[in-house]
Amino acid sequence: MDIAVFGTTPYDRRYLEDANADGLHQLKFFDASLNTQSAGLAAGCPAVCIFVNDNADAAVLDILHRGGTRLVALRCTGFNNIDLKAAASLGIRVVRVVSYSPNSVAEHAVALLMAINRKIHRAYNRTRDSNFSLDGLIGFDLAGKTVAVVGTGKIGRVFARIMLGFGCDVIGYDPERSPEFEAMGARYAQPGEIGEKADVVSLHCPLTPATHHIMNAETLARAKPGALLINTSRGGLIDTEAVVDALKSGQLGGLAIDVYEQEADLFFRDLSSVVITDDLIQRLISFPNVIVTGHQAFLTREALTTICETTLRSVSAFERNEALENEIRAG
Ligand code: NAD
Repeated sequence: MDIAVFGTTPYDRRYLEDANADGLHQLKFFDASLNTQSAGLAAGCPAVCIFVNDNADAAVLDILHRGGTRLVALRCTGFNNIDLKAAASLGIRVVRVVSYSPNSVAEHAVALLMAINRKIHRAYNRTRDSNFSLDGLIGFDLAGKTVAVVGTGKIGRVFARIMLGFGCDVIGYDPERSPEFEAMGARYAQPGEIGEKADVVSLHCPLTPATHHIMNAETLARAKPGALLINTSRGGLIDTEAVVDALKSGQLGGLAIDVYEQEADLFFRDLSSVVITDDLIQRLISFPNVIVTGHQAFLTREALTTICETTLRSVSAFERNEALENEIRAG
């Protein structure tokens, strides 16, 4: 089947071509992200493959549909960037990669936590300049501290297990409780207790209308002073302006993020020679106690292999008119 792949990076091309070694599909790679301007490139392709910062809103889906697209395959887990209702009304089916490697994202969240707590980013820059001073590099032992996991799904549970291994007291919040989370020695808590007790808060819930800006001026004010906030989930979970204020006042002790609300205008590109006009990200990057990675938490060999194999398996199942196990529908 002809598949238009949008937002292609060199590693997307390599891993998708490996997954398509049998040549079952014809992959048409486009560097451009999917939007109303680029959607026409998919004309004649029954399947379109997109990633987190492609935009599949109603207008884009309408263009794709007119070009003959009947399947959108998200090569990611989150699906906040596609209008599922519009897709359903056009008869476009949507699949995602439900699970590839929860370890990849959870381990990156741990890496961010370790780096922000022990100031690895600052030490790295100092020692490269032969500055071996330790001033300003004090962190805290994680053992014995309280770590809150917001969203105890696949990734949140792996993160929780690693934190339990560090000797942390792990508490969680999720409207749907996971017996596995409790069985491993973690426990559920109400948001009030999380604010009061958590030394570290790590976000692992999806971005939905209910979770938009769950970290806002009010919830940050209720947080334990000096707490660290880690977000590897979606940028929209955090009200960035409120976080900047909390960092300025010292209420928040540090922030490490792999996702940013306005990341679609920035991430996955080399903008090192460009004047960035987004003042919020520039302000964030200027803090010594902030680390930003550019949506790389999923980027392991294992995850990329599973993502590409699962995506092409879904397209093959669609082509053969078989049941789509990774299908998502408007709820
Ligand atoms: P999952 O569906 O297994 O788990 C999500 C959990 O969040 C579920 O248990 C759900 O009940 C819970 N949840 C829903 N609403 C909530 C709320 N209001 N408060 C607290 N919890 C709530 O998903 P997952 O595989 O663990 O992925 C979690 C998220 O990680 C994805 O939605 C995606 O946004 C993000 N992600 C990021 C990357 C990356 O590279 N940075 C990669 C993959 C996934």
